[in-house]
Amino acid sequence: MSLLEHLNAKLDAISAQSLKRSLRRADTGTAPRQTINGRELLMFCSNDYLGLAAEPAIAEALAEGARRWGGGSGASPLVSGHSAAHEAVADTLAAWFAPHIPQARAIGFCTGYMANLAVVTALGDEHTEIFSEQLNHASLIDAARLARARITRYAHADVTGLRTLLAASTAKIKLIVTDAVFSMDGDLAPLPGLLALAEEFDAWLIVDDAHGFGVLGEKGRGSLEHLGLSSERLILVGTLGKAAGLAGAFVAAHATIVDYLLQAARNFIFSTASPPAVEHALLTSFALIDGPVGAARRANLVARQAQLRNGLMALINRHPHLGWALTDAATPIQPLIVGGNAEVMALAAALEHAGLRVPGIRPPTVAAGTARLRITLCGTHTEADVDALLIALERAAASQERAA
Ligand SMILES: *Cc1c(COP(=O)(O)O)cnc(C)c1O
Repeated sequence: MSLLEHLNAKLDAISAQSLKRSLRRADTGTAPRQTINGRELLMFCSNDYLGLAAEPAIAEALAEGARRWGGGSGASPLVSGHSAAHEAVADTLAAWFAPHIPQARAIGFCTGYMANLAVVTALGDEHTEIFSEQLNHASLIDAARLARARITRYAHADVTGLRTLLAASTAKIKLIVTDAVFSMDGDLAPLPGLLALAEEFDAWLIVDDAHGFGVLGEKGRGSLEHLGLSSERLILVGTLGKAAGLAGAFVAAHATIVDYLLQAARNFIFSTASPPAVEHALLTSFALIDGPVGAARRANLVARQAQLRNGLMALINRHPHLGWALTDAATPIQPLIVGGNAEVMALAAALEHAGLRVPGIRPPTVAAGTARLRITLCGTHTEADVDALLIALERAAASQERAA
């Protein structure tokens, strides 16, 4: 069979399960109101949680960075790609996380996917056992597959189950690997319990705070600040393309760990450093996260989360026959579990018809039978925006109930 026939058969099977994915074209930048395929929609799908991507000060800093540094970095960091802007970003992050990780240093990456690949493959050598949370992000799963370590999975948020697995392990090095905020559920990992296990069993805790950085904690430092955690056993991964509104990622950890990543993380060593203008603009983003703009956006997020959650609970109670449900979300990620793939796509289409974009998430991204709308809030959504979503959902629920 030729490759094209083979792929066409697979594509047909994907379509038959209502799992076909396709691109939409954005005609304006990310913001609560964005023009998609030529039509303005009210968006509940971006990870730009603080609305900083649309902040004029960020665009200005990018332009200033480009005037000063030009375009690309020209080389990998160890050759000549590591600029003073890269260093200032890493130093700022090291200072931010010093209260949580004694002797912290930070190292930058172009994306969170790359940062996870680096930390898990470099630390997960043949002496290591990786204890991987069931709902970890795809980048952590792929990284574990590439690592030479033995991989043991533990059930979602199951501290007791993990304890049994750690007690039985004879591995010289033990790494617990988890998302801090689960990207499709919006709930928080039981980090205090996981850290206590790390202390008890001489293990290390890799925390991917892609959705917590900028959002959680009084100063927006993320899950570690939110939960008041501090330990030399914490290895933090943060991304800078979500709440920070730009691009990139970092690992913050004990200086020895960061020094080792610099020697051993192949995707750090053999990949071009990020554009220095982006790093320059990240310094402005950090100042915004740290200052009154960040504080105000975080306060608005908390208010909009409560408004949305209360509204969704009332909706579910009005339409119990639909079988919709909420997760334990405690973040700007507030999924509405619908169940079937076709049902969730019909619901997303009805919302889009009404001028709202909320993505339907299907397997394999989530477990079969738990297809959901993944609603994400932004610090620049207004009360009226969230009301508009709740009204559109009520209409869609009523019409699905009539059809059933
Ligand atoms: C988005 C995300 C990543 C990847 O980060 P990018 O910078 O987008 O590559 C990693 N982990 C989690 C949990 C994420 O949500």
